[in-house]
Amino acid sequence: MLETLRGNAHDGGARPPPNPDAGVQALQGLPGADGLAIGVVAIPQLLIDLDDVPARAALDPVFEEAALRAAITAVDEELRFAGERLAPLLPANEQTLFETHRMLLNSASLTAEARARIQQGCWAQGAWCEAVLARARLLEQADDPYLASRATDIRDLGRRVLHHLRAGSNRPVALASERRVLLAEEMSVAHLAAAGPDQLAAVVCLRGSALSHVSILAQAMGIPAVMALGDRPIGGFEGCEIIVDGYQGRVFVNPDPALRADYEQRIAADAELSAGLGDLRDLPAETRDGYRLPLYAKAGLLADIAAARECGADGIGLYRTEFAFMLRDAFPGAEEQRALYRQILEAFAPRPVVIRTLDIGGDKCLPYFTINEKNPFLGWRGMRFTLDRPDIFLTQLRALIQANAGLHNLRVLFPMITTVEEVDEALRLLDQAQAGLEREGLARARPEVGVMIEVPSAALQAAQLAGRVDFLSVGTNDLTQYLLAVDRDNGRVAKLYDSLHPAMLKTIAHILEGGRQAGRPVHLCGELSADPGAAVLLMGMGAASLSANAISVPRVKWAIRSFSRARAQELARQALTLDTALQVHRLLDGALREAGLGELVHRSA
Ligand code: PEP
Ligand code: MG
Repeated sequence: MLETLRGNAHDGGARPPPNPDAGVQALQGLPGADGLAIGVVAIPQLLIDLDDVPARAALDPVFEEAALRAAITAVDEELRFAGERLAPLLPANEQTLFETHRMLLNSASLTAEARARIQQGCWAQGAWCEAVLARARLLEQADDPYLASRATDIRDLGRRVLHHLRAGSNRPVALASERRVLLAEEMSVAHLAAAGPDQLAAVVCLRGSALSHVSILAQAMGIPAVMALGDRPIGGFEGCEIIVDGYQGRVFVNPDPALRADYEQRIAADAELSAGLGDLRDLPAETRDGYRLPLYAKAGLLADIAAARECGADGIGLYRTEFAFMLRDAFPGAEEQRALYRQILEAFAPRPVVIRTLDIGGDKCLPYFTINEKNPFLGWRGMRFTLDRPDIFLTQLRALIQANAGLHNLRVLFPMITTVEEVDEALRLLDQAQAGLEREGLARARPEVGVMIEVPSAALQAAQLAGRVDFLSVGTNDLTQYLLAVDRDNGRVAKLYDSLHPAMLKTIAHILEGGRQAGRPVHLCGELSADPGAAVLLMGMGAASLSANAISVPRVKWAIRSFSRARAQELARQALTLDTALQVHRLLDGALREAGLGELVHRSA
């Protein structure tokens, strides 16, 4: 990939002139990472095809083996260099991705297979490609999205080694001065690293979702990402100007001057707004009539913890533990988990930190634990998985309880609950973990515990569920998907995915009522609470707290501080009478403008 970018470097007229007749192309995908950017498309296509290497006999197997070893070492060096380049931007957690790639590259069985073929008389290029393709096919046969993406990594690494075998060169490149937007069907971490983070304006993928590794990294690097644009030819976009709207999951290729000017203005306004809102950092999310709403940040990586502290959040409203599991090569052990959770709890103590137990399945797969299902979002997800694997669940619960020792700011959250029995069983296991640790003298106080409401059945039984725990937390991302029957990761139906659908508002109102009946607070932790207008609405409906990404916290705080609670309640009453999502959006946009927050409407228009 690095080589391809070298080949495509825009530093001396190498770029093919963009087609002036192409016209603006607006493409809708999914938001991968927040932010706006304008840049020039760079497609990390690789010049060499693994299938194109002719079969040829080796004249000297010793020479062929040495050539292969040198090529692998060269690529290994590139990866190490790329990892170092990203190191200042990433917490130790994500840096393991580069190690994963290096491990894949240096896999003893892969090199042994290539060497065996050389010994059988094949030349290095052919032996290597056959070994790589065989390994990639094996991974693809597993029919698992995560393993399939490892197959992509293997092929990518294979091409890089092949390039070195052919060219035998590893000269460093002069990076282009233009800001690039990487656009690819699929993207590996190595693509991001090789592009040079300083020059990278944004990333765009035809596949993937906000939970793909590339999105996670883009979020950590603070660059916008758009995912899941769907299958389409992209070769012609090379060198074209592109606008990336990570908030809306949209891109515009070859924008006309008016659109470009509009986005330039938005980008400037975004930057100005962020700078201006920095003043709110130490002020509470308090309404004009003196009601203080706890406003939390969401996290899943250590980098988010730093960002959450920076943005002045009241704590962490949702820490997604699965990211830490996804970026490793085996289930993390109890001590490794304890240390991670302790770091997070300590960073915020005495402010609360809600840590969600493992929520894998759906589109979140572990590289070391394959789940093959036709309908993964309706399958072995979240609590269903952990209740079937109490060994994994108990290890995590013990690590959480131990991490909380002496701090007492932990709140444990159970994901993907659909029945009362699941909660009872999860609580039984929590008690078991607690009792075990108490016996060992390693824990005293039991943490507060809550249930996520993200499935219609749980929403309808909110009061019964709330009665069993300390709090509820509404996950609007999944609740929208399950209530509206719209896949949250399918760009084709993205326009139907709207968390402000009147049915969603009625359902949230029902959950809030269930919490009231049981005398338990109901928090909001889905992406909806990061939308300033929706945040005001949710406060008016009675949400006990909101959780937003760190980048959105200042905007939400500004909105809350610009309204009275009474006005927010009036908005909630009005919104609940409306028939369409569009009417709800208009109501909230109007309310934001009326309160002098037109800039926030413009941002998400
Ligand atoms: C949700 O579903 O709203 C949620 C917060 O969980 P996740 O996005 O991790 O599924
Ligand atoms: Mg969810």
